This record gives sequence, C-alpha cells and structure tokens, in this order.
Amino acid sequence: MNAEVEKSSKPIPAADELTAPFWEAARARRLVIQRCSACGYYNHPPRQFCDACLARELAFAPASGRGAVFSYTVMHQRDVAGFEGEAPFINIVVELAEQPMLLMVGNLPIGERERVRIGAPVEVWFEDRGGGVVVPQFRIV
Ligand SMILES: [Zn+2]
Repeated sequence: MNAEVEKSSKPIPAADELTAPFWEAARARRLVIQRCSACGYYNHPPRQFCDACLARELAFAPASGRGAVFSYTVMHQRDVAGFEGEAPFINIVVELAEQPMLLMVGNLPIGERERVRIGAPVEVWFEDRGGGVVVPQFRIV
C-alpha cells in the first residue's frame, strides 16, 4: 500500500451545522475555535451553549495555533482503521495557548518519541486528507 492510499483511508470527519465553520476554516489553513460573545470563553468542540456562562451567542474566533503537549500516549495497536501503516505513533492532547484546559487532539509520528514530553511547545499544521477535508494537526517546535 503506498502512502497516498494510506492517507486517504484515514477517517474523514463529518461536519455538521455546529462544526462546519471549524472545518471550513481548516480547509483554508486557519484554526478557529468557537468563542462565547458574552463572556469570551473558548469552547471546543463547538457547543450549543457556552460551557462557562450558558449563553447561546457563540461565534468562531481565530486561534494562534500555538500550545503545549498536555498529555500523550504511544499507540502500538495496528488495527485502528486508517492508521494500520503508521503504528506505532504518538497520540497527543494539546492545550491551546488561548485558555487553560482548551484541549485538542492530534498525533505525531513515532520519530518524535525522543522529543515529546508534557509541556513541549507545539504549533498547528494542516493535514490534507483529500476530498476537501483538511484536519488541524500539531507538531513540536
Ligand atoms: Zn460564555
């Protein structure tokens, strides 16, 4: 199996009304996060109501794409659909710089194993999965 086929077999996120602005921005290589217009709190994944104040006035705001590794685990299991050819790899949880506990998930190649640690600084990049689907990912900087 060549790299292109493996890449295209990864899961494709299904955008809905709530998440469409996030995916549209990702397609344009921009990271946006839902933010409450009433209190300024960032909500991710997008919600119907703000987690902090329950307001419904929610919009998408640009995010810096910078953050730090909050947690990680090395994935050895080879039967996860779309990732068969990549194991082992590193699952990461990133805390974005905009707000404590504003978390996103991603993954790193196993080659980053010596560099990954809790608190390692990361920046966003955009993985093209084909068919107009672009997924925000993170790399250690
Ligand atoms: Zn709020």
